[in-house]
Amino acid sequence: MSLRKKSFSKKMKKRALNRAKHMCEVCGKQVVMTTGEAHHIVPISQGGQNSASNLKIVCRPCHIKIHQELDRIEALKIRKKNKRNYQADSDIIIKNLKDTFIGLAKFLEELDKISKLTKDAVNELSNNLK
Ligand SMILES: [Zn+2]
Ligand SMILES: [Zn+2]
Repeated sequence: MSLRKKSFSKKMKKRALNRAKHMCEVCGKQVVMTTGEAHHIVPISQGGQNSASNLKIVCRPCHIKIHQELDRIEALKIRKKNKRNYQADSDIIIKNLKDTFIGLAKFLEELDKISKLTKDAVNELSNNLK
């Protein structure tokens, strides 16, 4: 998403300038061929075309602002995605911990049964020896 990418033809830009009555289509400032910039409404990277309907005439400051805003939105999207991944990871860790504790509780229960059985067996043996 480069500001300098000259992907619209000069002819196309000229036509768009006339359509916009030589005004920035964001702030309305007067622009000419050299000061007006052709902006892709839908970026090429997101499937936007080099077509007249995807061309917006903007002045330099507005163009910079638009792209700063787009970059900010993109950064937010990435942050949100990372947060979601982190959430999924911690959900898995918590589930694994729960499973481990359930397994441990079952093991202790078994151990308790075994030690009781052993105690009973020892008692029985010592009773028999009396
Ligand atoms: Zn402007
Ligand atoms: Zn642009």
